[in-house]
Amino acid sequence: MKFESQPSYSLGHRTPARREAAASEIGANVTLVSQSALGAINRGRVLQALYDNGPKSRADLARLAGVNRTTITGIVQPMIEEQLLVEGDAAPSDVKGGKPARPLYFNPDAPMLGAVLLLPGTIQACLVALTGEIRAVTKAEFDPFGDRQAFIATLTKTLTSTLSHAHQAPFGIGVASGGMIDSDNGVILAVNLAPVLTGLPLVNILQEHFSLPVVIDHHPRALLVGDRWFGPGRGQQNFAAIYTGEVLGGAFFIDGKVYRGLAGSGGELGHTVVQIDGEICNCGKHGCWETVAALPWLRKEAARLGLPQPGSITCARLVKEAEDGSKAADALLDRYTRNVAFGIVNLQQTLFLNSYVLHGDVAGGGAKAAERVRQHVERLVVKRPSQEISITVNGIGEGHTALRGAAGLVLSSHLKVVI
Ligand SMILES: [Zn+2]
Repeated sequence: MKFESQPSYSLGHRTPARREAAASEIGANVTLVSQSALGAINRGRVLQALYDNGPKSRADLARLAGVNRTTITGIVQPMIEEQLLVEGDAAPSDVKGGKPARPLYFNPDAPMLGAVLLLPGTIQACLVALTGEIRAVTKAEFDPFGDRQAFIATLTKTLTSTLSHAHQAPFGIGVASGGMIDSDNGVILAVNLAPVLTGLPLVNILQEHFSLPVVIDHHPRALLVGDRWFGPGRGQQNFAAIYTGEVLGGAFFIDGKVYRGLAGSGGELGHTVVQIDGEICNCGKHGCWETVAALPWLRKEAARLGLPQPGSITCARLVKEAEDGSKAADALLDRYTRNVAFGIVNLQQTLFLNSYVLHGDVAGGGAKAAERVRQHVERLVVKRPSQEISITVNGIGEGHTALRGAAGLVLSSHLKVVI
């Protein structure tokens, strides 16, 4: 199956698909949802049921996706025709005298999805199968303060190398990027730590170069999509992904869908203020959450306290040194996780999502760091009766979650799947 022979998937569908999704309400009053939006929601449910349960018969899929037996045929048949799904060998029916059921699963020969993770100074590209399997990872570095043409050349070369491993043209390319992103117009608006990316119309550039549909979104939102499809967000209707590293950001899954503000805004949590008149931030304002809960703060505090090798301190190292009996490491770990908790408390009071998946540096501290964050949140939050707050880490590995999430962005826009 060649890309050219695909039915008319064009990039023009990108924004309307998203608008339809935004107008829909999963699980509530679905009769008010337009037919095409409902189709996208049902596709999403069927794909999620396959991710969660492996190959399944139509009857089982209908039950797992919460649709009736008639509807399931209407959902899966076009996906078989588009060669996204294939029917396996017949298994004996559970029902006596019933027709043998042929399980459906992802077509191993279906086109893959291209994915790019763009963070200040580094590029990662790969192919992602519909099953979530990652292949042909290519990495490169770029000068965050360098020349724009040099950056574009490095990016296209990296991506070309990855795409050369695809047996057929991929469905499209999903880009997860740090910074402030306009996902509707495909432009990176600003990246404080990588000015070379600021103002870059990346979607147009990549679309012209590769003649493939391209979508871009905020890095934490790709983490959220990765969590939802393949990580701790599976099956959840409400949760947030929180990323801490050189910067801090987040994304929200609310009432069964990815939240996007105007032009893909929202989730720039690093710049919510936790300390009025606090330290100056990369953004030029004072007291942002990022100034007390990201790696630059941790390095500065480690140096001030005289911890060894403060320039390379991480949450993972703090956890280990605390376990080995360092009181200083233990105390700093406690302050760091408390500072992370403060922002989560504000978010909890605002949205009551109850479930938070940590990524980046703080997630490197594993379940121990997550538990410390949870305890601080419990102490700081104004709780409602019987409210359980869960703080977890995605143990799959950061890069892979973001890349799978970036690929998931292509699924949601190009294949009209509501994630
Ligand atoms: Zn700021």
